[in-house]
Amino acid sequence: MTFTSQNRKIRSSILMIYTGGTIGMKEDPVDLTLKPFDFDQILREVPELEKFAVKIDSHTFDPLIDSSDVEPELWQALATLIRDQYSHYDGFVVLHGTDTMSYSASALSFMLENLCKPVIFTGSQLPIGAPRTDGKENLVSAVEIASAKDAEGHALVPEVAIFFDFRLMRGNRTTKVNAENFNAFVSPNFPNLAEAGISIKYNTTAIRKPLRWDLPLQISTTLDTRVSILKIHPGITPQIVRNILCGPETRAVILETYGSGNAPSKKWFMDIVNEAVGMGKILVNVTQCLAGRVNMQLYATGKSLELSGVLSGYDSTTESMLAKLFYLLGKSTGNAWVASWIGQDLIGEISI
Ligand code: ASP
Repeated sequence: MTFTSQNRKIRSSILMIYTGGTIGMKEDPVDLTLKPFDFDQILREVPELEKFAVKIDSHTFDPLIDSSDVEPELWQALATLIRDQYSHYDGFVVLHGTDTMSYSASALSFMLENLCKPVIFTGSQLPIGAPRTDGKENLVSAVEIASAKDAEGHALVPEVAIFFDFRLMRGNRTTKVNAENFNAFVSPNFPNLAEAGISIKYNTTAIRKPLRWDLPLQISTTLDTRVSILKIHPGITPQIVRNILCGPETRAVILETYGSGNAPSKKWFMDIVNEAVGMGKILVNVTQCLAGRVNMQLYATGKSLELSGVLSGYDSTTESMLAKLFYLLGKSTGNAWVASWIGQDLIGEISI
């Protein structure tokens, strides 16, 4: 479907991709649960979009899904769609459920190589038809950002980002922190890329620019999902740690550690860590704190992890590290090669 603002000189064209989620949901009159509805109704709900000097085409995924059902296949389909449509549009807006939006935005940030155009994810906490919806503001601003260009005609935000509750954030820096309020996402370790008030103020020094604008978009869709996440907690048992760290199916494990990267110093724990590293598993240390970074030099409990060969995830979110591992493991069967890239800043996902 295409709709175009009337009586205005078209400046940009946007592909709006609807994958599902609350933004396009309505109440089922029979069982009163929220169910996805036809994308046409979103356009009917947001006539404001017609005021932009922007041509907007839409693409609706079939089936529409609650983002709790997102799997890497959706990321592969999104990356392929964006690659196939790349030359036809100035930017892309992806409507997505909030529950796994940070995972999807992180994954796409790695998979879309040489990206020079905006890919702006958004969604809402209330359905777009609800009286106090946050969906309209999120959608309208996401379209404005996805179509914004600088004086040379380059995209103002040539990266994968999330727009939510008046803030634009780098996608691979976000995490969902609120299940009820409109401020569902934060970017705890990296400044917002823009803030929307009366006008949209871009933080141009924080926005990542491509090294070259003329390289063709490439997509990397082979993902290896043999990754586990182990959240360290008091009372964790040797059996559970061994099952996760040394399981035959696992190539890599994200250790969600305490504070600045600390884990139990007990002998049994370090023995299992050493065993896993000895088996060639990649172990990455990411803090379970919302903000801050791993520094394994600070405490003896972190230092022993480092000495065992556990890699620092620096200030990565868990979502972003998971996506980075899927992406890197998909590129090589060699764990040593993958390990050598973990501490590198590939696409603005970590500050080293
Ligand atoms: N469960 C929904 C989803 O993530 C919630 C939302 O859309 O915000 O798809």
